[in-house]
Amino acid sequence: MEINLISDTVTKPTEGMLKAMTNAEVGDDVFGADPTVNLLQDKVAKLFGMEAALFFPSGTMANQAAIKIHTQPGDRMFCDKWAHVYNYEGGGAAFNSGVTSYLIDGDRGMFTAEQLENAVSGRADIHVPFNRLVCIENTTNKGGGACWDFEELVKIGKVTRDYNLAYHLDGARLFNALVAQNETPQQYGELFDTISICLSKGLGAPVGSVLVGSKEHIEKALRVRKLFGGGMRQAGFLAAAGIYALDNLVNRLADDHSRAKAIGEVLESCSYVKKVEPIETNIVIFYVNDTIDSIDFIEKMKQKGILLISMGEGKLRIVTHLDFTDEMLTILLSELKSF
Ligand SMILES: *Cc1c(COP(=O)(O)O)cnc(C)c1O
Repeated sequence: MEINLISDTVTKPTEGMLKAMTNAEVGDDVFGADPTVNLLQDKVAKLFGMEAALFFPSGTMANQAAIKIHTQPGDRMFCDKWAHVYNYEGGGAAFNSGVTSYLIDGDRGMFTAEQLENAVSGRADIHVPFNRLVCIENTTNKGGGACWDFEELVKIGKVTRDYNLAYHLDGARLFNALVAQNETPQQYGELFDTISICLSKGLGAPVGSVLVGSKEHIEKALRVRKLFGGGMRQAGFLAAAGIYALDNLVNRLADDHSRAKAIGEVLESCSYVKKVEPIETNIVIFYVNDTIDSIDFIEKMKQKGILLISMGEGKLRIVTHLDFTDEMLTILLSELKSF
């Protein structure tokens, strides 16, 4: 049995999801005529209490469209130094939008309102870029699935209003945060201008992200999606997977979180482990002792059928997900203990 823990994107559609997909009513979505895509978009907009939503083929494209609609070339966006929008979207903010990034030196991918205020309240004359956008990531990917303190996000929201900045949330794993922190989509919808969510991470859909925002923002995003080449035709087959996931697979994220915690506890007790980062959701980041080569560790685990990845700098990552069962957990824990 292969136990693949490299990411929560490795899942395959469940039987129920596949059935929902094959039964979907579809049309040409470039003409706005796919009823299932429209249903998903309405559903997500309503869930967040926002006016409109748009289905995207990827989270990267949803984030990049958000950056594009909030900025003009030469503008500056603020994000954490570990942000996905800066590190893992191929330089898209610069390439697609001509935007320069100000990286805030946060903790596990999270910064404070005070740090942001210090960054935006500096010199403002012809020498410096226009400050235009703040991007938050919840949960943080490189930060090991950490959840923001909602009160801090509210304070940051106040700074964005004081300085007339757009406020975007990269919520690729927002549902993990909602479940872990007992929060609601509405409270995020009230706070942010735009939010992207991924259906293909913990929610287990094969493809798809959604961008939510005001009617005006989503109308602009529709044009940007077209020019990015993201207009899709009978996308309802994919949207149906997203609808199924939102209806059936949100609350079970708590299982991924408890399995991640169980893995963390065992790792803590292993003599070859140097450090385990705090585990809040479904991502486990740990370091092995200097006597063990981390790449070698990954290779030996691979020989036992267990796949994990390196995040660089000696960091190892395990991500729990829909296709990782209790049976697999038992095998993993025993392999970790006996390594
Ligand atoms: C996965 C991810 C995305 C989007 O990635 P795609 O692979 O393009 O869907 C965006 N932000 C974060 C934090 C992510 O983890």
